[in-house]
Amino acid sequence: MNENQEHNDQQNLNEDQARRSFLKKLGIFAGIGAVATAGAVYVGFDHEKKKNPTGKKVRVLTADGKLMEVDEAELEKNENAATEELNELQRRGREGLPGKHWVMVIDLSKCRNARMCMAACQGAHELRPEQHHINVLRMQDADHTEPYFMPKPCYHCDNPPCTKVCPVDATFKRQDGIVLIDNERCIGCRFCIAGCPYSARVFNWIEPLKPANDRVYDVELNVPQKKGTISKCLFSADCLRKGEMPYCTRACPNGVYWFGDRNEDTVTNGTTKETVSFSELIRKNGGYTVLEELGTKPQVYYLPPKNRAFPFQYEGKTELDPNDSRIGGGRG
Ligand code: SF4
Ligand code: SF4
Repeated sequence: MNENQEHNDQQNLNEDQARRSFLKKLGIFAGIGAVATAGAVYVGFDHEKKKNPTGKKVRVLTADGKLMEVDEAELEKNENAATEELNELQRRGREGLPGKHWVMVIDLSKCRNARMCMAACQGAHELRPEQHHINVLRMQDADHTEPYFMPKPCYHCDNPPCTKVCPVDATFKRQDGIVLIDNERCIGCRFCIAGCPYSARVFNWIEPLKPANDRVYDVELNVPQKKGTISKCLFSADCLRKGEMPYCTRACPNGVYWFGDRNEDTVTNGTTKETVSFSELIRKNGGYTVLEELGTKPQVYYLPPKNRAFPFQYEGKTELDPNDSRIGGGRG
């Protein structure tokens, strides 16, 4: 071996050691940190079983949220994750109700900012007072127009950008149109928050209101909430499974919410229990969806705030009272 060869070998060795130490620091060394890419979950590179590089680079997300590129040969599929059996609540939560396509209609001419929808939702989903799956906003389109109240849940888009950016398939759209989250899979990267143009998702920054206490996570209820994961409106998938209308819909005293099945073309009012044709309700009353031009195809429709039956009254109420007994209580 000449001097040059010896120098090159030593250099390669140093580079390899430096790389190993770099990977180790990032927590993707075998068995230390899980990384995820394109919906698959991997554990890092096992240097003892060194493989020939393929030259194909793969972008991976480390367990501590760093994005990096590694050779494809350096990845090993995590067989445990691939074969991991879903528990019953996860399985049925992903499947949804066959033959259904849920839709909501919100009549803006009837909302009086009673916020009982918010209270029922927060109670059912064990949310903190500052966390909303549905929020009632005070809106005013121009200086000379009347203000109005606008309840805003997740729109359960038929073409949801939020699910497409999730690197671990934790958030998904099911056959009945509901977009849900499996917080047993969520790694808290918050890509879906950035992906949603409607700000419909919230992040659990701190410990939840109610501890898990060994309860099994229910995908359809998103309970128990878990620090470091996402939460959002679920169209009360747990209620629909029981043949009940969503929590918000039933709690409203003012007839604001209609909910039903697009496939049957019927919606029922949560307050009056009247059932009408969905398509007629929309057509005759100028129903619309928000930011239709984005192509997201929201499944929550609004009826404009025209011919209101009451004068607009605003008492500056933008939050629920944290001591309100309706919050944090039972389910609905
Ligand atoms: S409103 Fe946002 S979170 Fe809900 S389905 Fe649409 S993009 Fe996803
Ligand atoms: S934060 Fe959103 S995008 Fe990230 S893993 Fe959780 S559900 Fe998926």
